[in-house]
Amino acid sequence: MKKNNKNNKKNLNPIKSIGSNILLWILIVLISVTLLEYFSTDNKPKNISYSEYKDFLTTNMIESAVIEGRTFIGTLKEEVLSSDLEPNQSSYKMFKSILPEVSIDMTQSWDEKNIKYEFKDSTPSAIDYIFQFSPWILILAFWLFIMRRMQGPGAQSGIFGFSKSKAKMFMSDNPKITFKNVAGCDEAKAELKEIVDFLKKPNKYKKIGAKIPRGALLLGSPGTGKTLLAKAVSGEAGVPFFSISGAEFVEMFVGVGASRVRDLFEQAKKNSPSIIFIDEIDAVGRHRGAGLGGGHDEREQTLNQILVEMDGFNSESNVIILAATNRPDVLDKALLRPGRFDRQIVVDVPTQEGRVQILKIHSKNTPLSKDVDFNVIAKSTPGMVGADLENLINEAALLAARDNKNKISMKYLEEAKDKVQLGVARKSMVLNDEDKKIIAYHEAGHALVAYFSKYADPVHKITIVPRGMALGVTAQLPENDKFNYSKNYLISKLNVLMGGRCAEKIIFSDTTTGAGNDILVATDIAKKMVCEWGMSDKIGPLTFGKKNEEVFLGREISYPKEFSNDISKIIDEEITTFVKNAEKFASDVLKKNIDKLHAIANSLLENETISGNQMKDLILNPSPSIIDK
Ligand code: ADP
Ligand code: MG
Ligand code: ZN
Repeated sequence: MKKNNKNNKKNLNPIKSIGSNILLWILIVLISVTLLEYFSTDNKPKNISYSEYKDFLTTNMIESAVIEGRTFIGTLKEEVLSSDLEPNQSSYKMFKSILPEVSIDMTQSWDEKNIKYEFKDSTPSAIDYIFQFSPWILILAFWLFIMRRMQGPGAQSGIFGFSKSKAKMFMSDNPKITFKNVAGCDEAKAELKEIVDFLKKPNKYKKIGAKIPRGALLLGSPGTGKTLLAKAVSGEAGVPFFSISGAEFVEMFVGVGASRVRDLFEQAKKNSPSIIFIDEIDAVGRHRGAGLGGGHDEREQTLNQILVEMDGFNSESNVIILAATNRPDVLDKALLRPGRFDRQIVVDVPTQEGRVQILKIHSKNTPLSKDVDFNVIAKSTPGMVGADLENLINEAALLAARDNKNKISMKYLEEAKDKVQLGVARKSMVLNDEDKKIIAYHEAGHALVAYFSKYADPVHKITIVPRGMALGVTAQLPENDKFNYSKNYLISKLNVLMGGRCAEKIIFSDTTTGAGNDILVATDIAKKMVCEWGMSDKIGPLTFGKKNEEVFLGREISYPKEFSNDISKIIDEEITTFVKNAEKFASDVLKKNIDKLHAIANSLLENETISGNQMKDLILNPSPSIIDK
């Protein structure tokens, strides 16, 4: 079957173009013949009724006849045609009528009238056949046309191409991406280098009885460089590299996915040693039985086929399968079993040093002015991944170009960073003075509480320029990358979140909707502190309620409440206590330092944006002149 497909694929192209021409001609001929047939009545027998035929017979007007089956095709006598007596009948020479039966009586009556008659087989002519089938031919032609259309100009050739794997094969010298193009994630690189080494010198490993790993799964947040790493492997390995995305397995026909998998693995085995890379494998690798559409769906079959193929490999195959995903939590457990993707390589969010390297790589072709210090940028961009940093450099270049600069200076990098982190500044959004004042006090409240909370991240910048969805922003940045959060840190975070609303309450004795998001975030943190992280003294280190982050409502379609009503009451109380305490802390701090709150808010109203250091100055010596009315 597969062999046939292959041949078809090769030959189909020339045949197809000729074939489509022939098809076109057949269509034209068919249509014109139909039209001719339709309009020409000259030498065609006219259909008449049986009673008319009997009239002709009794009045002795029939010269000769041909009988095909039960059809009587008669020719009228010359005299009848030339006579003026029957003008309406003279418009035709031949007629045809269906007889009830052809019996001896009938032939006798024809003999009586001296009609010359003969019998013919009623086999339809070739033309008749064509007419009979013409609607089908038309439908077939139309279908072929649609099929071709659906596949698009760049698609696999012909209707037989759909089950072919769409994997793109890269030879080692094709893409010029190597490990040098990937910065940071050194552990991942080291693991992959080992795999490349397996493929280059398999004997070295076989000699001491080491088994070559079958598959490695790259795990990491979006944009951390998983796809890039896989490409780098193909660049380094010097073996054929088949790359396909999980979503490409599943297409319009049922069963295509599985056959694509089969084809892909077959090709890889034929070209071994080789690498198969399945990007975004979660598209097919979700645990089976998930989804609302019933169990046995297309995706599941595809996944089963992948599992079967991976088991079918032996150590002689020399094929290594790489896969990438940012949702390892939804993957089917069978994929992660030893013997399949037995190596799991975590591609981490880059560290500060990693971010510097990534920035350097992506600014290789951009002119930078002398004041640019990537260490500063890297320090203030924790959590940003490779894709974000690449975007940051590009945004800075765009901003510089807009100002007709030919070098990127630090100013543009900072601006680009704000844009990427906080959203685009909406300078055109006009706020009235009252709103501005509320926002200024709200942000000043956040900032001041942050300053007085021992464990909170230092304030980096405060602004009342609306950015993205926020009307104002108080940006805090950790001094170092954080991987783990202490209870004290989280409590400080709650304090800071409450600072905005408290400032509004103290100054305006009113509350606004602006604090909605703060409250949402605070509630979420408090809930997790109690239910997930065991930070409540009353309840202790217990987990309540499973995380329900299933995209496809797979495993956890519903959960019985697994704790008593008493506990549930305590949980609610504890969550409330965390938030209420934070509110009290924030309120106290602001009331005690109300002069400083006025100072920061007024400075914000004046300057729109102030930095963390400027804020510190204002707090340390709030000049009496700007203390408010
Ligand atoms: P994903 O992990 O989502 O597959 P990609 O590999 O597609 O991420 O990364 C997107 C882009 O981000 C890459 O094309 C690359 O330019 C950039 N990038 C990501 N991580 C790195 C890195 N560690 N070093 C250099 N560039 C990176
Ligand atoms: Mg990717
Ligand atoms: Zn706020």
